Amino acid sequence: MNFWFIVGSQLMYGKETIDRVNENALVIAKELGSRLPFPFVYKGTVLSNEGAVSLIKEANYDAECAGIVTFCHTFSPSKMWINALGLLQKPWCHLHTQFNREIPDGIDMDYMNLHQSAHGDREHGYIGTRLRKGRKVIAGHWMEDSVVGRLGKWQRACVGAAVSRGLKVVRFGDNMREVAVTDGDKVGAQFKFGWQVNTTPVGDLVEAMGKVSGADIDGKMDEYRSKYDFKTDDLETVRYQALEEIAIQRILDADGARAFSNTFQDLHGLRQLPGLATQNLMSKGYGYGGEGDWKTAALTAIVKAMAPGATFMEDYTYDLKNGISLGAHMLEVCPTVAEGKPRIEVHHLGIGNREPPARLVFEGKAGPALALTLIDLGGRFRLITQDVLCVPPTQTMPSLPVARVMWKPLPSLEVGAECWILAGGAHHTVLSYGIDSEVARDWARAMDVEILHIGAGTTTADFERDERISDLVWRNA
Ligand code: MN
Repeated sequence: MNFWFIVGSQLMYGKETIDRVNENALVIAKELGSRLPFPFVYKGTVLSNEGAVSLIKEANYDAECAGIVTFCHTFSPSKMWINALGLLQKPWCHLHTQFNREIPDGIDMDYMNLHQSAHGDREHGYIGTRLRKGRKVIAGHWMEDSVVGRLGKWQRACVGAAVSRGLKVVRFGDNMREVAVTDGDKVGAQFKFGWQVNTTPVGDLVEAMGKVSGADIDGKMDEYRSKYDFKTDDLETVRYQALEEIAIQRILDADGARAFSNTFQDLHGLRQLPGLATQNLMSKGYGYGGEGDWKTAALTAIVKAMAPGATFMEDYTYDLKNGISLGAHMLEVCPTVAEGKPRIEVHHLGIGNREPPARLVFEGKAGPALALTLIDLGGRFRLITQDVLCVPPTQTMPSLPVARVMWKPLPSLEVGAECWILAGGAHHTVLSYGIDSEVARDWARAMDVEILHIGAGTTTADFERDERISDLVWRNA
């Protein structure tokens, strides 16, 4: 994936000025390219309607182009961009910067005409708003860490958008019975997000497991030994997870799928609910959703593509005295959020009516994170995000042998939960240590989907009003 840097100018100032614009643009692109998480390529300066149209068409059809960044170095009458921006299908960031940070003592009219983004970028902004084009606007000098940092976040969101457009999700079995929030409109999701969500019978998985050799399982066991501590002697049970993992991955890879769901209510022919198998797959970037939750499976894969350190998660139980939520799942929490080396353990699972499964047990890392949930409101989707602070475990919980994370929702457990529930947020989330709400907002803009955010400054009263307004805006969008 790469990003195109396109500069705006015009021929009115003569060739010498355009040469300077080109030189400066190359300097900016080189510097940003060395500091951003993804390549940043200068693609030229637009000087006409035809030039803009041709470049934007090229960006649309280049599969490697994840987004365009524009900057009007001189006064660039952006009327010449109208046809091009009307065609634009890639995420757009308007970088409102200026080549020189300060005004030189000897400033003259030539200098001012060359360094005129304060003027040209305003025209550019007017055209963007007039066309109602969603775009990110970042203002500040291009060398500033804050500018580079925010541009990098936007790049991550764009990569997430590109991954989303081509994502395939395999559903092993249907959704858990009698649960609404994990279901939704799969056709609508393909139209909005690009996801191809299709079913694969659990019987096909069982059949694929029959084709896995002992040597394949030996290799997977070596991988487990290199990554995890074995806290069990029951190697046969661990080998069964290895067998499941290999077969699941073969089915996913055969179709180019990067996410999957399953449900404990449809395990026909399986001796264990996949636990370690799912966890190890998630650590490799595959998305997962429990109980048939294909939306969270897809979102997990997308968030993982944006930044490492993310997992399928579930709000499980509260410490109301200390304002802490205990997040876990029956088994399937990704070890990329683990503090220390995860342990492989085998324990009885009181759900699913199968043999005790092997699973990874660990505590989550401390630090700021973002919880994301995607719900289907009937006719549209809504993304809800919340800032959380993951905390070191406050108890050892020896009788709860699952991977778990404890966090303080912001601004508090009570206000956070009130807003989350008012917004209709699910119990399933993606928990990410690698992205923040700005990245989520950039991704939502790129996908043209509603987003609500709960953070340190949120109050229930403001949130309730904002949710009603947002509902009004997006209901018929
Ligand atoms: Mn669940």
